[in-house]
Amino acid sequence: MKHSILTLVIAVAGLSIAQAADSPVGYTDTPMIPGQKWRVHDPERPAPTVVTPGTTFSHSAPAPSDATILFDGHDLSQWKSGNKEAGWKVENGYMEVAPNSGSIQTKGQFDDFQLHLEFATPHKVEGNSQGRGNSGVIIFGMYEVQVLDSFNNKTYADGQTGAMYGQYAPLANASKVPGAWQSYDIIFETARWEDGKLVKKANVTVIHNGVLLHHKQEYSGPSHHRRVGTYNKPHPPKGSIHLQDHNNPMRFRNIWIRSIGKYDE
Ligand code: MG
Repeated sequence: MKHSILTLVIAVAGLSIAQAADSPVGYTDTPMIPGQKWRVHDPERPAPTVVTPGTTFSHSAPAPSDATILFDGHDLSQWKSGNKEAGWKVENGYMEVAPNSGSIQTKGQFDDFQLHLEFATPHKVEGNSQGRGNSGVIIFGMYEVQVLDSFNNKTYADGQTGAMYGQYAPLANASKVPGAWQSYDIIFETARWEDGKLVKKANVTVIHNGVLLHHKQEYSGPSHHRRVGTYNKPHPPKGSIHLQDHNNPMRFRNIWIRSIGKYDE
C-alpha cells in the first residue's frame, strides 16, 4: 500500500518513474523530441535489439598511416582537462578515468572526421542505469555519443551505449560483457552556418563492435540531459573531442582520427 501511494505521488509530481532507484531509468516530465514521438529519455521508448557482435579483435590494430594518433597507450600528451593537464591514469596501454579528475579534451581541433577508439566498462558491475559504466564521446564538447555499460542494464533507450544522447536510441545494442574491450568507429560531419544561418545540421555514423548504430543521423542540436538542444548559436567548423568523466573508472585505448577528406583532391 505504502508503495502504491509513493508511486502515485511520483506520477502526479511528474518525476522520474524510478525515483526510488539509484539512477532513473527514464523521465516522464521531459519535452518531446522534435520530429519524433518520444520524450527526451522516454521510459516507453523501446530498447534496441540486442545483437551479439562477432569477434572483432583481441588486440588493438595499428592505426592507418595518415591518422593522427590521439592515444597510443603511453601518455596523455594529446589531451588536457580544461586549462589543466589531463589527470586520468595511464597504465598497461590504456587510460582510465581517475576519481574527480574531470573530463578530458584533445588539444587538437578537428573538422569532419573518422574516429576510432576502444573502451572497456568496469569489470566489476556497480550502480545501475546511467550510473553504471557511464562516459561519453562528446564531439566538440557538444554532440554526445553515449558510452555506457549496456550489457543487461536497463536504462532509457536514448541514453544507452551508442545513443545520440537524449535524441536517438542506437539501431542495435551490440554491447560486450563488462570489462571486455569494445570498439567505436565514428564518422562525424559538423553543423555549418552561412551568414549566421544554419545550412547543415551535424550528423553522425556510429559502428560499435562492427555493428551499425547510426547512419548519417542528424543531431537536433547539442546534446543535453533532459532537454533537446537547438542550433541557435553558430559554432566553428572545428572542435576538440571530449571524453566524459561520469564518476566511473572507464578505460580507453587505441584512439586515432582521420579527416574525411574530399574526392579527387
Ligand atoms: Mg555519458
